[in-house]
Amino acid sequence: MNDLDLGLAQGVKKLLIDGRLVESVTGRTFESRNPANGAVLAHIAEGDAADIDLAVAAARRAFEGPWSRFTPFQRQEAILKLADLVDDHFEMFSRLDTLDMGMPITLTRGRRQRAIGMLRFYASLCTAIRGATVPNSLPGSVFSYTLKEPVGVVGAIMPWNAPLTSAIWKIGPVLATGCTMVLKPAEDAPLTALRLGELALEAGIPEGVINVVPGRGDRAGAALAAHMDVDKVAFTGSEITGRKIIEATKGNIKRAMLELGGKSPDIVFADADLEKASVGAAMGIFGNSGQICSAGSRLLVERTVYDEFVERVAAFAAKLKVGNGLEPETQIGPVVSQKQMDRVRSYIDIGQSEGAELATGGQRLTGELFGDGYFFQPTVMKTADYRARVAQEEIFGPVVVAIPFDTAEEAVKIANATIYGLGSGVWTRDVAKAHTMAKAIRSGTVWVNCYGLLDPVIPFGGYKTSGYGRESGFEHADEYLQTKSVVLQNG
Ligand code: NAD
Repeated sequence: MNDLDLGLAQGVKKLLIDGRLVESVTGRTFESRNPANGAVLAHIAEGDAADIDLAVAAARRAFEGPWSRFTPFQRQEAILKLADLVDDHFEMFSRLDTLDMGMPITLTRGRRQRAIGMLRFYASLCTAIRGATVPNSLPGSVFSYTLKEPVGVVGAIMPWNAPLTSAIWKIGPVLATGCTMVLKPAEDAPLTALRLGELALEAGIPEGVINVVPGRGDRAGAALAAHMDVDKVAFTGSEITGRKIIEATKGNIKRAMLELGGKSPDIVFADADLEKASVGAAMGIFGNSGQICSAGSRLLVERTVYDEFVERVAAFAAKLKVGNGLEPETQIGPVVSQKQMDRVRSYIDIGQSEGAELATGGQRLTGELFGDGYFFQPTVMKTADYRARVAQEEIFGPVVVAIPFDTAEEAVKIANATIYGLGSGVWTRDVAKAHTMAKAIRSGTVWVNCYGLLDPVIPFGGYKTSGYGRESGFEHADEYLQTKSVVLQNG
């Protein structure tokens, strides 16, 4: 498959508004680059406030017009058709994501079941949405019931770290509940969302239901979050931007769902299967070069096995094959951009200045093999100071900080001592300890003897400043529905 098949050589990639591919109002474009070599992949129309206005208006027309007349069965059929189309084009999507943000092709290809499964799961929700009759204690003959209604026009703002599955996480529940949307993908990886929007049209989803407007966060993103005719913002990204989103929603008190960052603890007890745990912990952080919101970036290890275990993880990390994600043997791709590379490097310096010790890695990979790509060694740092910046702040790169602990109580204290609460891991053979830890850790997900497993039926989201709202699971549909009570008095 060459670049032409991926649609990358067809001039400027346009915005998708009201079912049509259009230039941006300003005529400005921006570049999307391949992080494996720094080469320009595509020029993309740059949406701004005026394009957001057009897209929101189209979404509103579709919401009140043709889409509102789709029955639950018709919405279900359309989502299933979209699932089939994504399946048919899966190799294209896999390559597009690898080229656009660097994730190894084995990983992008490996997400097939998850991506298609998500869409099929959301299709199943269409016919499961229901209100309830509500027995009441009012005097006289009063009948009451609830209706579950779509919240309306959704502004979805996405990060770049998993373009296909993130976009499906936004599109699926919007379609299932009968909402419409304007999707703003991240500047660093906008291509997949545009292609998905086009396939939605092919699936028979009416024009204007899904609009895709790439552009800068502080312009297109900010305009979407603040738009007075948007009913809900579904945001996935950093905690800093999440705070701006909350501010922006105030104008019309729009609802918000925030999926933010993390500094997730992965806790290894001495009684765990240490071989399995070392591989699980390493891939729990280094998979996708650490660019996963729930990556296990703090490795908490029981002191009696700390040195041995950290050595195992470091040895595993040092052997991981880093390279261009298109090579089938690559296990770790580049980080997404120069900006991300600078961020990762700065945290190595911060960690060392705080007294953390490098167990492996810590360098950018350069030379003939790596060219201008943004490759960084999988890195393990050791520190006893769980309050150090390197152990508290999200790096979003292939860097794990290993911290010793003595007791389960201390592990819980350290695990909970961050502003975040997204993911966490516990490795132990002691079932009682596993349940006790699962209850005590303040995070949206606790993985026991595994890390990072996701499934469309399992809710995912944050505690504390990792955000609010849940994606996946039946809870996800509720995020896009509102409840209307009908109270009817006889006579
Ligand atoms: P980011 O916050 O920089 O950007 C996310 C999106 O917000 C982008 O589309 C960006 O253009 C837009 N944006 C930026 N400024 C904006 C503004 N003022 N108003 C509106 N939109 C704006 O985050 P990122 O670097 O793209 O992604 C990495 C972050 O996302 C990490 O913190 C990671 O943990 C988080 N993340 C969370 C989840 C989750 O499910 N919890 C999943 C993936 C990534």
